[in-house]
Amino acid sequence: MENLQELLDEACNRARPLVREGRVASYIPELAKADPSLIGIAVHTVEGETVQSGHAAHPFTLQSISKLFSLAALMRFRGPTGALDGMPCEPSGDAFHSIVRLEEEAGHPRNPLINAGAILVSSRLPGGDPKEIAGTVGELLASVLDAPVPVDAQVYASESATGYRNRALANYMQHFGLLENAELACEAYFRQCALTLDAKDLARAGLFLAGNGTDPMSGAPILDPQCTRSILALMSMCGLYDQVGQFALTVGLPAKSAVSGGILTIVPGRMAIATYGAALGPKGNSVAGVAMLQFLSDALDLSLFG
Ligand code: GLU
Repeated sequence: MENLQELLDEACNRARPLVREGRVASYIPELAKADPSLIGIAVHTVEGETVQSGHAAHPFTLQSISKLFSLAALMRFRGPTGALDGMPCEPSGDAFHSIVRLEEEAGHPRNPLINAGAILVSSRLPGGDPKEIAGTVGELLASVLDAPVPVDAQVYASESATGYRNRALANYMQHFGLLENAELACEAYFRQCALTLDAKDLARAGLFLAGNGTDPMSGAPILDPQCTRSILALMSMCGLYDQVGQFALTVGLPAKSAVSGGILTIVPGRMAIATYGAALGPKGNSVAGVAMLQFLSDALDLSLFG
């Protein structure tokens, strides 16, 4: 694609002023240290073209984006049905860390991309301690990137020291018999959330989701096609908190955002796009990220809805 570089530069330039409208997440104290002026975008196509603009090499913790890879890791062990057992896979309509429906629905999380669901996924991954369990997720990423993926120890410690709300979700699920060790599940989840990449490597790591489960660069089968389709479907229904409907209307692609300001977006069969910008809008999504994706989707006519 000849003008992709120009488009990404233009996307960055247009989005840059918008960061003033957002706020950096601070409920995990360490995340509040992020510089909201740093924004970046990276595209990796299935043909192997890589283009980036702005601060696409600035590392950030994956936070909720890690939920895609923990689910993929679990699906490799248990298949799609086993991995999603006990989760109806419907959009929640509630905040990502809401406890309301757990009370109403006997501890069952609505889907694996909200916190309760992701903690349940982590509780089902193999391993005896948080390092081993989160290591399963890190290893999946590392196998694609052919390089180890670090855990940000400060962010991990910061969330572990303050994650009362997630512990409440996990304890609720333990009460209802969905998991056995709430503390272990939470620590594993916090650790996986602190896995750190930049936008360039995130686009590369997520490329198998655009390749129907096969990494288009190496040809390695990462996830079976049915599991991959399930993850993309979940992203399009539950990937952007309470803005997922608007995002479907304006961008029209499966994506997963994170409180750290990252968004991984997949154009099935074509490319993975990763954006970064720590300033979040009222629904918790990166303002610059959403704006860049909207621009690119319009410019390249990427929406899956025609
Ligand atoms: N570790 C974060 C939490 O559980 C992730 C949330 C997110 O990125 O949506 O609160």
